[in-house]
Amino acid sequence: MNIHEYQAKELLAKYGIGIPAGHAALTVEEAVEGAKKLPGPLYVVKAQIHAGGRGKGKFTELGPDAKGGVRLSKSIEEVEANAKEMLGNTLVTIQTGDAGKQVNRLYVTDGVDIAKEYYLSMLVDRATGRVAMIVSTEGGMDIEEVAHSTPEKIVTITIDPAEGFQPHHGRAVAFGLKLTGDLNKQAQKLAKQLYTAFVDLDCAMLEINPLVETEDGNLLVLDTKMSFDSNALYRHPDVMELRDETEEDPAEIEASKYDLAYIKLDGDIGCMVNGAGLAMATMDIIKLNGMFPANFLDVGGGATTEKVTAAFKIILGDPNVKGILVNIFGGIMKCDVIAEGIVAAAKDVNLSVPLVVRLEGTNVDKGKEILANSGLAIVPANDLGDAARKIVAEVKAVA
Ligand code: GDP
Ligand code: MG
Repeated sequence: MNIHEYQAKELLAKYGIGIPAGHAALTVEEAVEGAKKLPGPLYVVKAQIHAGGRGKGKFTELGPDAKGGVRLSKSIEEVEANAKEMLGNTLVTIQTGDAGKQVNRLYVTDGVDIAKEYYLSMLVDRATGRVAMIVSTEGGMDIEEVAHSTPEKIVTITIDPAEGFQPHHGRAVAFGLKLTGDLNKQAQKLAKQLYTAFVDLDCAMLEINPLVETEDGNLLVLDTKMSFDSNALYRHPDVMELRDETEEDPAEIEASKYDLAYIKLDGDIGCMVNGAGLAMATMDIIKLNGMFPANFLDVGGGATTEKVTAAFKIILGDPNVKGILVNIFGGIMKCDVIAEGIVAAAKDVNLSVPLVVRLEGTNVDKGKEILANSGLAIVPANDLGDAARKIVAEVKAVA
């Protein structure tokens, strides 16, 4: 789960981490009120969307010359004008995709005089089973570009969770950032605070870009992105409350209500599969046959009629879907029960695209019989390869 920049900063502030003062706003009036509470004379109006690259982003409705989603403002009037322009409009950044995201929230912050920008991020590194802290002197800009052209400028420090954060980790971070004197001490303290916050909150990823050195010699978190391990969210009801569903894909939200693991993709063939591994294999074999999957969908072990119906509706809600491939292994669930679910669901949603079903496992013959006698134009398949070939052929025949 992702949260907004202002929410992440409020969480970090509780750990004593330095952030510029700021106020979130849903309306132009709130933005102005927020700015009035800040010392000035420089303010920053920042679009709050779950995507980075806002500064260099473009507003679809405002034309190519308009400023991006992070705007320095030199007066309350400028804050007001910028808030008016940004709210309700669509911001396109390198991370939003072409459709962009509508800006519904702003964050008005105290403008900082920046001496230098740094990069710091943390993530759970699966390869080492440890938390990795990644730092670079090249902050503010595109870190992927830094990693690509000057990888030596990126330093990784791994922290063994059993040992916890030790003073030498802090020194390595400060050294990696090439900081000396008081800034070096500040970096060591900050690294420890960030590690504590990361572990406490069960973060999956925490990125600070840029971490800035101010003209008056302080380290501040100027921008941050934070995401959480969904499996641990039950331990953090306060974090769960920060979820902003308007930032998420509506189909994925609907799927999560039925405990379906659904990810929308760009292809034409909807997939309904049980088991994540089988779902991955199904997507691969569709590609092997020359078409692309419209989604990843794992209906899980206990695929009830209700779940299968919900899954069909979600798949068909995607206008790109030209055919559906159902690939289910009846292990815990029996194939005849699944077949009944598929037939009921197909009738319920008035299925209008080709449907290929491959069933395997317990009571498979009974299941196939139910599909054959359903009166629906369901194409049965014998194995995975057969199923993929058939759905691709069916879709191409219709087109
Ligand atoms: P992003 O574009 O979504 O990553 O948004 P950021 O919050 O990182 O802002 C983009 C850039 O705007 C930063 O790298 C800074 O260069 C600049 N910026 C943001 N806040 C301030 C500020 O308070 N003062 C100054 N001088 N520049 C800022
Ligand atoms: Mg940034």
